[in-house]
Amino acid sequence: MNAEIIAIGSELLTPFRQDTNSLFLTAELNKLGVDVEYKTVVGDDRARLTTIARIALDRADVVIFMGGLGPTEDDLTREAVAAALHLQLKRDPDIVAGLYARFAARKIKMPENNLKQADVIMGAAALANQKGSAPGQYLEGSIDGRERIVILLPGPPVELKPMFNEEVLPRLKRKLPPAFIATRELRMALMPESECDAIAAPIYKAHKEVETTILAPVGEVQLHLKARGKSLQEAQEKVDALAEELEDELGDNVFSSRGESLEQIVGYFLDMRGSTVAVAESCTGGLLGQRLSSVSGSSRYFLGGAIVYSNDLKTSLSDVPPLMIKEHGAVSREVAIALAEGIRKKCKSTFGVAVTGIAGPTGGTPEKPVGLVYHAIADGKKTEVVKRNFPSDRDRVRWWASQQALDMIRRKLM
Ligand code: ATP
Ligand code: MG
Repeated sequence: MNAEIIAIGSELLTPFRQDTNSLFLTAELNKLGVDVEYKTVVGDDRARLTTIARIALDRADVVIFMGGLGPTEDDLTREAVAAALHLQLKRDPDIVAGLYARFAARKIKMPENNLKQADVIMGAAALANQKGSAPGQYLEGSIDGRERIVILLPGPPVELKPMFNEEVLPRLKRKLPPAFIATRELRMALMPESECDAIAAPIYKAHKEVETTILAPVGEVQLHLKARGKSLQEAQEKVDALAEELEDELGDNVFSSRGESLEQIVGYFLDMRGSTVAVAESCTGGLLGQRLSSVSGSSRYFLGGAIVYSNDLKTSLSDVPPLMIKEHGAVSREVAIALAEGIRKKCKSTFGVAVTGIAGPTGGTPEKPVGLVYHAIADGKKTEVVKRNFPSDRDRVRWWASQQALDMIRRKLM
């Protein structure tokens, strides 16, 4: 089974609004074993909408339209889909009564144009909307000799999601054959995508039964594995077998084998060891602390720290000698070490972690270019430092630096 999702709304064709509903719907459809093959965004225009509806009905088994079910002039989804299906709209008296009751309950007179929300495509079931006035619609049937499912949902995410879960999901489950799909997600920090793929491709290419996708958000590579089977166990065994082989080859680059974030994994290790961490951050400006504290339960291992952006604060909050800063510069191996050791002592934590660098785009010099970052981790015995040259813009340099610092904590604990 394949699906097409059509987002309707002229605002979705501007730079100010995004179609996020289709991400939710795609995830839900995938769980049912339905692949989304096309997504379309179309403005509030009857002719274009009808054209797109015809194309979608021609090539997809399940077609979901969302948005444009409101009462105003530019809400044309019902009319356009009915036209594309060559079906009439019929005003449903129960929905009319419901609309009057809804307005009466709020003690306001219902404007006439709201009545068109009661127009249902012949043969379609109306779907109750718990959060708004526009009902959805669900239609099953044969079109040109092929079985089709056509679904109309309201655009606002707060209305669409509960309607999908409560009204659409049970209907789809009844209609579709049971699907058994298992997924795994391996994540690697700070590994170049090409390097990862050079190792991984020969392995996943030999596992044709598993669909493998490689993604590379900033500072990370992810391998998404997906397999189908006649039972959940069979599907699970397929992805697990591939995941195991990949983990063997990628080794300790893999920080997560079930999609956990780096901060979750670091938290898990710290918690398990009963260790604590404190941070002294310069160029990341609190990003490292933000990420560590984003995990629920992090108070057990994350003590806090200091944002030591200025040289004075590097001295007063992390005991870095002013002379050291003068001699080596704030962005230096020596200062990174002193920051990590200083914050560890001040906070009485197991580990002290420090980041100091040049995020740019200004402030770089030939000796110390933009993207140069020193990361240090102190444990009271041996302080480790990693120097990196991140070739990127300010936001990415800062993210990368936080990623590197977190990965150093992980490797220390492994
Ligand atoms: P309804 O079908 O409930 O009448 P509508 O299209 O008439 O929906 P709008 O007023 O156009 O309602 O949109 C309501 C809100 O929902 C807007 O903020 C809009 O940007 C948002 N929205 C519509 N479609 C989507 C989508 N695909 N993804 C995310 N937000 C959406
Ligand atoms: Mg709209």
